Amino acid sequence: MTNPGSNAPASKNLLQSEALKRYILETSVYPREHEQLQGLREVTMKHKWGLMSMPAEEGQLLSMLLKLINAKKTIEIGVYTGYSLLTTALALPEEGQILAIDIEKSYYEIGLPFIQRAGVENKINFIEAAAIPFLDKMIQEIKEDDLFDFAFVDADKLNYGEYHECLLKLVKVGGVIAYDNTLWSGSVAVPVDPSDPEEFIEVRNHQVKFNNFLAADSRIEISQVCIGDGLTICRRIV
Ligand code: SAM
Ligand code: CA
Repeated sequence: MTNPGSNAPASKNLLQSEALKRYILETSVYPREHEQLQGLREVTMKHKWGLMSMPAEEGQLLSMLLKLINAKKTIEIGVYTGYSLLTTALALPEEGQILAIDIEKSYYEIGLPFIQRAGVENKINFIEAAAIPFLDKMIQEIKEDDLFDFAFVDADKLNYGEYHECLLKLVKVGGVIAYDNTLWSGSVAVPVDPSDPEEFIEVRNHQVKFNNFLAADSRIEISQVCIGDGLTICRRIV
């Protein structure tokens, strides 16, 4: 498919001009990207699901956000080869801890040598598991003092509603939950294109409902950021 409302080729970039995207990357992002992130990005782009990886400009925002909120304890759901995970590990202080959950460890193993060379493996606890049962178990056991400062959600999109309910019990008041791909290539803003694959349409319809749900959820403040494929930043207020 093309980006709705434009003639741009299919990509996870919502900007309507490839030239503007290139300008941002070349001016502000790539010159500052950590060398292990660059290496991981290049290897990931050769992998068959490379487009699932977080774009570098979004990684830069994630890193800034983590530092602004002084995050020390975070959870990531959906790791893939680990671009967002390595970004997080580099942004956290030395004592920082990340619980990283993915149902498929072999993807994480692609990124692990880059994480090791960056010297941040000690901050990561990788768990190979389906996320929802794992979160449900954590909710039974977690103590108030152990709640997370930050959560990044980038796994199975159709379960974002369930992740939200779990994370409101696992992230502290004042903490942040970020949901990726909430604009789903811009498709949320235009009528369904019946020529798109069924699975794409299913996620598109889910994201429309999820975005409406977040917009009306009084337990959080939100900011819908038009970066990458759409990032919704939520701050837990109750
Ligand atoms: N955050 C990564 C990044 O920016 O590079 C990309 C994550 S990728 C879009 C989604 C990942 O979610 C895949 O690696 C997939 O194995 C994982 N996943 C899918 N369903 C899951 C589930 N139910 N529980 C845990 N992980 C899941
Ligand atoms: Ca994503």
